[in-house]
Amino acid sequence: MRILVADDDPVIRKQLEVSLTKFGYGVIECADGKDAWEHLQKEDAPNLMILDWSMPGLSGLELSKRIRQFEKEPQPYIILLTAKSDVNDVIEGLDSGADDYITKPFYPHELHARLKTGIRTIAVQKELLNARNQLEIEASHDYLTGIYNRRAVMQLLKIDLGRHQRNKKSLCVVLFDLDHFKQVNDTYGHSAGDDVLCETTKRISSVIRPYDAFGRYGGEEFLFVLPECEQENAFNLCERVRTIISDKKIQTEDKL
Ligand SMILES: [Mg+2]
Repeated sequence: MRILVADDDPVIRKQLEVSLTKFGYGVIECADGKDAWEHLQKEDAPNLMILDWSMPGLSGLELSKRIRQFEKEPQPYIILLTAKSDVNDVIEGLDSGADDYITKPFYPHELHARLKTGIRTIAVQKELLNARNQLEIEASHDYLTGIYNRRAVMQLLKIDLGRHQRNKKSLCVVLFDLDHFKQVNDTYGHSAGDDVLCETTKRISSVIRPYDAFGRYGGEEFLFVLPECEQENAFNLCERVRTIISDKKIQTEDKL
């Protein structure tokens, strides 16, 4: 776990570095708030930070406010470190968006205990984010084939229709199905039918453009939403899709 430390006092920075390294943390040192802010723009910026309240240029308090305006997930855990110990200062510090508050001189073991709270908070946030992302995927994707489900592809169609009408661009929509699919299920069983649907979507995904939306509309019905696409190009795509499905037999796991 890396921790960003911002303090304009080199002695405090050194003390923090020594303590944090002893507890097994990596330390990114910043000499002022501006330096810290620049570090926080980076892709791999730490989620845990100790900010001095009083720094020239950009104070820890202002920095906390800025960080909270960030739509970063998980939200960074901020500990304010300061010589101010009045209860009103504590309130102001926490109101700025800081999660915790430590007064100087700090006690290394207390700091470590508070950092552990921060680490637990970040871990819980990450778990919630993963669960939310997983639910979003499950709610918008077809369980069998992994492509968009009907609700998601119709939603994308609605968004794209509005956008294309505004921009006066051409949008093509293709609804198509697999002929005689019922015969596959009746002859080879539903498991083989599932294999056919999965292989079909795999082949189709290899010929459509990355920005085309492709969803399962119903059992063996599919829908394309083709943004900025003229009718002729849509016909060509449909023909490519038809041939990529019909050209090669689909081998299924379950046979008679
Ligand atoms: Mg200072």
